[in-house]
Amino acid sequence: MYDIAVLGGGVVGCFSALRAAELGLRTVLIDERGVFGGASPRSAGVFTVQLDSPIDVKLVAKSIELVKKYTRRSWRETGFLQIGKEYALRESMESLEKCGIEYKLLDSKEILDRWPEFVVEPELMGVYTKSDLSAEPKILGCELREALNEMEVDIVEKVGAVGLDFGSSEVRHVKLSDGSRVSADYYVLAMGSWTSGLLRSANLETETFLLTCFAYRLDLGQELNIPSFSDEYLHTYWRPWGSTLVGGRYDAEFSETPDLSDVQPPSKSLKMSIKLLLRRLKLPSKPILVEHMRGPCSFTSDGMPIFGHVPSLNNAFIIDGLGGYGLMRGPALGYLAVDALIQRHDFDEYRVYSPFRIFKIAKNNK
Ligand SMILES: Cc1cc2nc3c(=O)[nH]c(=O)nc-3n(C[C@H](O)[C@H](O)[C@H](O)COP(=O)(O)OP(=O)(O)OC[C@H]3O[C@@H](n4cnc5c(N)ncnc54)[C@H](O)[C@@H]3O)c2cc1C
Repeated sequence: MYDIAVLGGGVVGCFSALRAAELGLRTVLIDERGVFGGASPRSAGVFTVQLDSPIDVKLVAKSIELVKKYTRRSWRETGFLQIGKEYALRESMESLEKCGIEYKLLDSKEILDRWPEFVVEPELMGVYTKSDLSAEPKILGCELREALNEMEVDIVEKVGAVGLDFGSSEVRHVKLSDGSRVSADYYVLAMGSWTSGLLRSANLETETFLLTCFAYRLDLGQELNIPSFSDEYLHTYWRPWGSTLVGGRYDAEFSETPDLSDVQPPSKSLKMSIKLLLRRLKLPSKPILVEHMRGPCSFTSDGMPIFGHVPSLNNAFIIDGLGGYGLMRGPALGYLAVDALIQRHDFDEYRVYSPFRIFKIAKNNK
């Protein structure tokens, strides 16, 4: 019998398990594929506080703090430059101001003075924040596993949750694919794109949908001294790592089930990403594709995450619907979930993320 069982060992589940262990709880982390077996290791690795909503800005700031606390080798502080017309940057500047995060608004000349590699049309501006990260997700996964081991979290891998047994108001145990069961006082559901499938097996229907997202790693032949950046004008994003740039054009396709295949993204997507990159940067040589990333992202119709108790189950908490910004919001949400679940901490500001809005049964019962 555990104090807490965390289902799913992506970025969210790892930080939930770390927080639980930090609080001295007997913790088990269960992952059908293994720690970092889902979307997290396939993500592009951008962490930036330049998001439109103040809640998200605070979450990413907290995530950056947590990633720095638990890992050392998987990230670099590159800063982040958001390029666009001034009106398109306004929302994110307002959020930064509300959260007390310092930024610099640079005109095109100031951008070029700092980073001559950029090509910036005179009508464009840039918002620069200093402490944003470029992170290598696969290394992050290895470092989080080391931290989980150090914190004595039990890790159950290659065995997945196939069902939940619950009474009138509580989960009693989780059924696993090898026929065994795990019991705990509390449960965190952090299976990303697979969470809705497990809930469906328990007759709980959620209104989420899946996209398969693509990104690329390009080798430039030499290291550039530039920040990570997004381009509101050309609709692309990139982060530097050594001589490579990782990112792309926010390409995605709808899918029925989580797609972990290694199928190449459509070649026109790659070509367009490179074409747009060449409009924004003067590169020393032609970029060469090193690898593509392809993975499932779970979305809600209002674009906001799901964070809260599973309706009518007092001891189960769900974190899902993180979309294309889950690597950067996941650490904070996973970590805070445990405080909310165990200590009944009322995170008032996250009410907008309430699971009630996406559970069909809960809505009907309301
Ligand atoms: C190409 C691409 C680029 C992206 N770029 C970025 C980016 O730059 N920045 C950013 O913030 N986000 C990015 N994302 C989004 C980000 O990857 C996700 O939002 C985030 O990884 C979700 O984390 P998670 O822990 O919720 O899910 P996951 O990482 O998918 O973890 C879920 C885990 O649950 C496990 N699991 C599944 N079924 C079961 C079961 N039955 N029992 C037990 N365990 C189970 C899986 O094996 C998996 O390890 C990108 C995504 C993609 C695909």
